Amino acid sequence: MKKFKKLTVPAEGEKIEVVKKQLKVPDQPIIPFIEGDGIGKDITPVSLKVLEAAVSKAYNGQKKIVWLEIFAGDKAYNLYKEYLPSETIQAIKYYIVAIKGPLTTPIAGGFRSLNVTLRQVLNLYACIRPVKYIPGVPAPVKHPEDMDIVIFRENTEDVYAGFEWAKGSKETKKLISFLNKNLKTKIRLDSGIGIKPISVTGTKRLVRKAIQFALEHNRPSVTLIHKGNIMKYTEGAFRDWGYQLAQKEFKDQIVTEEEVTTKYKGTRPEGKLLINDRIADNIFQQILLRPKEYSVLAAPNLNGDYLSDAAAAQVGGLGLAPGANIGDFIALFEATHGTAPKYAGKNMANPSSLILSGVMMLEYLGWKEAADLVRKGLEEAIRQKKVTYDLHRMLEGATRLSTSQFGDAIIENM
Ligand code: NAP
Repeated sequence: MKKFKKLTVPAEGEKIEVVKKQLKVPDQPIIPFIEGDGIGKDITPVSLKVLEAAVSKAYNGQKKIVWLEIFAGDKAYNLYKEYLPSETIQAIKYYIVAIKGPLTTPIAGGFRSLNVTLRQVLNLYACIRPVKYIPGVPAPVKHPEDMDIVIFRENTEDVYAGFEWAKGSKETKKLISFLNKNLKTKIRLDSGIGIKPISVTGTKRLVRKAIQFALEHNRPSVTLIHKGNIMKYTEGAFRDWGYQLAQKEFKDQIVTEEEVTTKYKGTRPEGKLLINDRIADNIFQQILLRPKEYSVLAAPNLNGDYLSDAAAAQVGGLGLAPGANIGDFIALFEATHGTAPKYAGKNMANPSSLILSGVMMLEYLGWKEAADLVRKGLEEAIRQKKVTYDLHRMLEGATRLSTSQFGDAIIENM
């Protein structure tokens, strides 16, 4: 067993392994969790309790998650004097699957964001956000139930890669002078500079994951999202490399939109996965007006970020939106909202985002029966209008529950 300095590894439970490129999940996997800052202390214990109850019920006690608390954010600072201790990273790498609450972005400490750092150091290159309507949730559109998409957002490059220099800095002056002199650009001297790298490697591994997901889940299409009409060698290249990957690695399983038009009279042939692409601005109106036509979307980092929140808002908001950051096997499931500091410790916040991320985690482990139970319990509680403050203020005739009462309502409804 691996030794950690400040982590209390439970005596029971076993580690998840990767054997022959497959996840091997024992009946009692040790799963690290980060409680998170702010409302993390409210939503995380409740979420873990709900997941435990579902596993116990689904498998009559034959399976069990053995939690291991690991630290990031304020709790880590108190214990290690660091916001993101290396032990936390090592534990996630070692145990492979982990879950986390939201983390405050420290003002000092040299981090852009703990979340971005975690994704980058663990090479969690795909941010996966399913967006599906939960009946009964107040939503701003007429037919929120038409939305059922899964967004694969590239997580490691694009303008988020962290290559930025401030206006007037030594680096910026050097860069602008080099670019203007040698590459004949006309960048104003009073500019800040950011760099947008998009690579073949980053694009292909993301698009591969999206296509594999679509095939495994019998989804009809994968749409490549890009702003390639303007940024040809980054966003446009994302589209081109995405098509290349699809045609090279999944040749017999896919059909492109162009082939559907030219060879199949406009109808996707039975059993083939449609690969198409949409320009970023267009997809925002498409998911509003014709959400049924989209299923899996693969996007570079920035557009994927915007799109995930816009799509989540369409079905009732971020409080209910789950997310996962996944690389080659290592997976970190997380609430997609922040730490909502004004509600911290008040037992008020909605734990649904973290609970539904836990559902994604159970599915990732192959524990579908438990995942289905959690979803059923949550949907039923909402159908009965037993909800936390955020939904209560929008739902007429609803009963307002605390975070922990809402967790109990989910468990009762499993
Ligand atoms: P936020 O924490 O997401 O909160 C913004 C508002 O969203 C809250 O005031 C609340 O709205 C609503 N909300 C968020 N989570 C909710 C929940 N579980 N239940 C009910 N309502 C919820 O965004 P922020 O205030 O911009 O960010 C606060 C901190 O979180 C920052 O340090 C930021 O960097 C960090 N952050 C972390 C993550 C992450 O860890 N993944 C993500 C985003 C932001 P009402 O007040 O209207 O009720």
